[in-house]
Amino acid sequence: MSGQTETAWPEGVIARFLTVGGAAVDLSFDDERAPDVPVHQGTAWASTKPMITITVMARCTGRGCRAGTSEATVMEIPWGGRPLETEPGIEATRWGQAHAEKCRAMPRPTN
Ligand SMILES: [Zn+2]
Repeated sequence: MSGQTETAWPEGVIARFLTVGGAAVDLSFDDERAPDVPVHQGTAWASTKPMITITVMARCTGRGCRAGTSEATVMEIPWGGRPLETEPGIEATRWGQAHAEKCRAMPRPTN
């Protein structure tokens, strides 16, 4: 061990749950589409933020465990919104917590 308590999270991962087996459940999201240029109306920025389409998913990294949310959830959120605070995000969080509590698959050694 390097002594570091934190390792870099994979790109797109927004939350992680440590499983009892020492692996992790990763919650991540992908941008399906780049955000539109913010609309500038007159002297003020439009109050309605552009919507972006994201895919929310949860996946276990335990070796031999390919568990994940049955299907990625595609949804629209305001640009700059918080995916974890959306309904699919909350659901994925709940699933991740529940799976982390019972999954005993261990992560593959990195060396
Ligand atoms: Zn698992």
